[in-house]
Amino acid sequence: MTKITPRPGILDITLYQGGASSIDGIANVVKLSSNENPFGPSDDAKAAYKKIAFELHRYPSSDHRSLREAIAQTFGVNAARVICGAGSDEIISLLCQAYAGPGDEVIHTEHGFAMYRISALAAGATPVEVPERERVTDVDAILAACTERTRLVFLANPNNPTGTMVGESEVSRLARGLPDQALLVVDGAYAEYVEGYDGGAALVEARENVVMTRTFSKLYGLGALRIGWGYGPQDVIDVLNRVRGPFNVNQPALAAAEAALRDTAWTEKCRNDNTRLRAWLAEALAEHGVPSDTSTANFILARFASPAEAEACDALLQGEGILVRRVAGYKLPHCLRITVGDEASCRRVAHAVGKFMEQAR
Ligand SMILES: *Cc1c(COP(=O)(O)O)cnc(C)c1O
Repeated sequence: MTKITPRPGILDITLYQGGASSIDGIANVVKLSSNENPFGPSDDAKAAYKKIAFELHRYPSSDHRSLREAIAQTFGVNAARVICGAGSDEIISLLCQAYAGPGDEVIHTEHGFAMYRISALAAGATPVEVPERERVTDVDAILAACTERTRLVFLANPNNPTGTMVGESEVSRLARGLPDQALLVVDGAYAEYVEGYDGGAALVEARENVVMTRTFSKLYGLGALRIGWGYGPQDVIDVLNRVRGPFNVNQPALAAAEAALRDTAWTEKCRNDNTRLRAWLAEALAEHGVPSDTSTANFILARFASPAEAEACDALLQGEGILVRRVAGYKLPHCLRITVGDEASCRRVAHAVGKFMEQAR
């Protein structure tokens, strides 16, 4: 037997399952499995990306100054306390590497995003799962789970895959109640979909124990480029900058993200379409007897009567060339997560679910 083994915890990691993107034998699949923007990025972002083709021999910026300043302008934050990463996944990973190790606990919620557990285990720390209340974050349960070993608390708000969120006063109560050595990470991957919500930025300003993570993969439609950012207290950002690679973000991503930020008309259009089509889809599913919690993001968590029914519906959808996300791995085996697509996709998926429900019941 080999004596070459990884650190404890690594072999406990279950590989992250991305949303499927193809079905054998079907050419035009409707992909509603990864919460992507159905309209893609801004034309300005695509143009900026193309332009970099002539500069590919140059190393990227290592301080990301230009993008950090654009982020600061757009979101009213302090550029010096922004860090950019290869997706917000990298920020999550850097936080775990820097703040949690063997013997430390990393809290995430029952139906929380899978990368929290994966990054905690990769750092050698112990993930701790806290129950939710009917698919909504339970702040009291999180506070009750805290110990002297708690180093990080991850909260996606809105959460994926539930689509629910808790109010700013609840998040603030959580931050105030944490033990002194614990850092709260508010993951705002879907914050841009919530009108008037700052993703937790004001809480970062007000406190010394809160970090916010954001991404260009969802509303901004740049998932392929892997770019996200974090905002936190200066000392935390300084720590993360020591841990990250100097060229962790590539130049096409930096350029496209900056252009995407500046095209506010496109952002506005995508947000409005999502809000309208999300309401339409939720209602159409409900009319077919498939309920969902009110979603604040760009997807709907459709609830079925049983895991078998969810699985059968998924099979029918695949037969129709429609890909949605099974979320059994998130302890929601009776649910399917459906990304809000363009209007035609929403109609197709609603129609197919309706057809399934007629057959099933
Ligand atoms: C999609 C998602 C992310 C991160 O995406 P990146 O592409 O790595 O920026 C982070 N958190 C949640 C909850 C998500 O759903």
